[in-house]
Amino acid sequence: MAFTAKRIRDLKQAGIRVLFDAAQGIEDVIHLEIGKPDFPTPAPICEAAIEAIRQGRTTYTPNAGVQELRRDLAAHLTTSKGVAVSPREIVVTTGGMGALATTLEAILEPGDEVLVPNPGWPNYAMQTICAGGTAVTYDLSADTGYQPERRCIEPRITDRTKALLVNSPANPTGAVISAENVAGLVDLARQHNLLIVSDECYEDILYVDSCPSFLREDSRAFTVGIYSFSKTYAMTGWRIGYLAAPPELAPQITKLQEVYVACASSVSQAAARAALALDRRHVREMVQAYARRREIVREELQAAGIRHFLPQGAFYCLVDIGATGTDSMAFALELLKTRHVAVAPGETFGRNAARTVRICFATGDETLREGVRRLAAFAKRK
Ligand code: PLP
Repeated sequence: MAFTAKRIRDLKQAGIRVLFDAAQGIEDVIHLEIGKPDFPTPAPICEAAIEAIRQGRTTYTPNAGVQELRRDLAAHLTTSKGVAVSPREIVVTTGGMGALATTLEAILEPGDEVLVPNPGWPNYAMQTICAGGTAVTYDLSADTGYQPERRCIEPRITDRTKALLVNSPANPTGAVISAENVAGLVDLARQHNLLIVSDECYEDILYVDSCPSFLREDSRAFTVGIYSFSKTYAMTGWRIGYLAAPPELAPQITKLQEVYVACASSVSQAAARAALALDRRHVREMVQAYARRREIVREELQAAGIRHFLPQGAFYCLVDIGATGTDSMAFALELLKTRHVAVAPGETFGRNAARTVRICFATGDETLREGVRRLAAFAKRK
């Protein structure tokens, strides 16, 4: 008997997981497919969590998170984004994923459309579908630095469009949106009455001076900013993130926290407070390591004459495999089988990345160098 709902049955397993699963049982695989920092969570954060457990702070918290953390997060955004954010606009969530899922569910009526980037993180479309909506892609192109531009997005708007999802620094491209494009999209959203859902989870992992945010004075009323501790503080397993939503939307999203998770983990919330208070040296050191690894990727690919898109943020690099004439899933599976290197097939991010594979360079320098060399040798042989 088929119990599964059609929209769930139709969800495609993300290609990244296909590769991850295929790699199980193969020895000595160099893993460049999954986007997770290889650093341990900084010690002061772990200590704060252990202390919270010792003190018995191991029970449910308010749905939107403990008041002290929401206050700290509001102060943090007020300083870092230069806009006044109040604690009642903050919801502490189970990672950026929890923030995105509850936001989409809170806003979508059946059949409402959400504009999502192509290439883009596959979870956007999957979460939209799970929330009963329809994902409509807008094109990003390497020729324009994968910048989300008004002229590519506006023609995709219909009378069912509810939200515009933007991601900067972006996964999988590593592109950082320009201030000019932020202004253009804010204007577009205002004009068409769209909610901007801005995934800024990689905001601190930058190889350029700054990353313009959508959380601005002139867009606060129609923007939800999505944030995470996962990447900045190497805390992927703690499942802790947050969002900043307009004052009338935040309580609605909070109701969904009760429905699905009650609250983010109390221990992780204590850890998050410690992360915010952490000496920024810890984050700087991790970003310096990613910058060094980005150079390794660039050096190796350049030496092999393989085209790639040099990221401005996050820790991914899209490698052009168009010259091999192989589709990205077949390329990735054969690379895994013959050279023991796992990469993410570009097609999983949308058809505009179908002739690429994505490398995650959040891994040790020498392992990374070896992995990219094997990839380059394999691509050249093809
Ligand atoms: N947004 C993007 C673009 C991501 O790549 C990820 C994780 O890989 C997330 C959000 C969510 O991460 P988390 O739920 O761990 O905060």
